[in-house]
Amino acid sequence: MIFRIPTALATLSVSLLLVSAHPGNGCSLYKRQTATCPATYAPVAEGSYPALDCVPFVEDPQVQEWLKLVNFTQVPTTAVSNAGACPPDISTIPASQCWWTCQKCVAPTDIVNCPTPMTWGLTYDDGPSPDSPRLYDYLKTHNQTTTLFIVGSRAISYPDTLKRAYQEGHQIAIHTWSHPSMTGLTNEQVVAELKWTEKAIHDILGVTPTYWRPPYGDVDDRVRAIATQLGYKTVIWTQGFDTNDWDIPGGLATPESVVANFQSLLAEAPTMSTGFIVLEHDLYPQEVDVAINSILPMAYNTTGLTIEPVAKCIGDFAPYKEGAGTFQNEGGNGTTNSTLAQTYSGASAQQESSSRLAMVALTTSCLMVLSGLLL
Ligand SMILES: [Zn+2]
Repeated sequence: MIFRIPTALATLSVSLLLVSAHPGNGCSLYKRQTATCPATYAPVAEGSYPALDCVPFVEDPQVQEWLKLVNFTQVPTTAVSNAGACPPDISTIPASQCWWTCQKCVAPTDIVNCPTPMTWGLTYDDGPSPDSPRLYDYLKTHNQTTTLFIVGSRAISYPDTLKRAYQEGHQIAIHTWSHPSMTGLTNEQVVAELKWTEKAIHDILGVTPTYWRPPYGDVDDRVRAIATQLGYKTVIWTQGFDTNDWDIPGGLATPESVVANFQSLLAEAPTMSTGFIVLEHDLYPQEVDVAINSILPMAYNTTGLTIEPVAKCIGDFAPYKEGAGTFQNEGGNGTTNSTLAQTYSGASAQQESSSRLAMVALTTSCLMVLSGLLL
């Protein structure tokens, strides 16, 4: 979550804390990235990009062009949220706002599961990162493709990793430029976050994703309307199907607790009338570790479970504006066993020398932290 006052004060100099806060899962916070964002607007140079991990300036001529793609008279005039935080009295939110974070409202156009029972729409968010290749290696071993929700700032930082993911047939999708709570942004900032990410991916891969996932699932009908007009399908995840892997780096979850979460999801799957989509990440080594050492092996050992990218599970074999691109839609071959899993168990040692950003566990209650940092 970006602690930026998103409306009239948006251009103030702000030293940003990019903190992951999943509002649907209590109020635990931990630091994901740090960025010092420019205090004043300057146009993005030709062939360049906005400051990494900062909400792009909307004054930029490129953004002004993109704004012409949206008919804002068709966008609900919902108030901008306070960085995605729910009001104290949730009943004050109009039902028509359909705000996932606070109302747990799912719009008819939201993709939150796979239609076929015992089908898992596999996704990983927040990459590409230095740890993503270990995930790709494992998936490749199992002839498995997935949906990757890409942060534009990470794509610029690790373009070769993104190219590899694309070349290996994964579905590349959008996860915004700087990972903000999207309901906390103005209409123009929403456009800038989505389109700069689209541009970064297109510049690197030559294709335009048609799917996006809002960070923290933070979306309402205002944000949906903009995303839809820009040509994107909104993907969240099945209600409650969050492994909490994002809480391991901050020390608020353990691999064991994440595995236990996943086990309970797997136990529920046979009772469901649909398949499901789970929230997982490939930003930090601990997230990749738990995926390749525990969660995926467990899934491959589950009889009758099909695992495939989200686009395939809803019957879309061309998840880019240009068509299928390199998208492959194999399910996994289901041959994972504990021996294979162990092959990867020692792989995290290399990450120690990577230039990782420090993580700080913040255990104060959500509202206290939010209000303190916003002051
Ligand atoms: Zn994310």
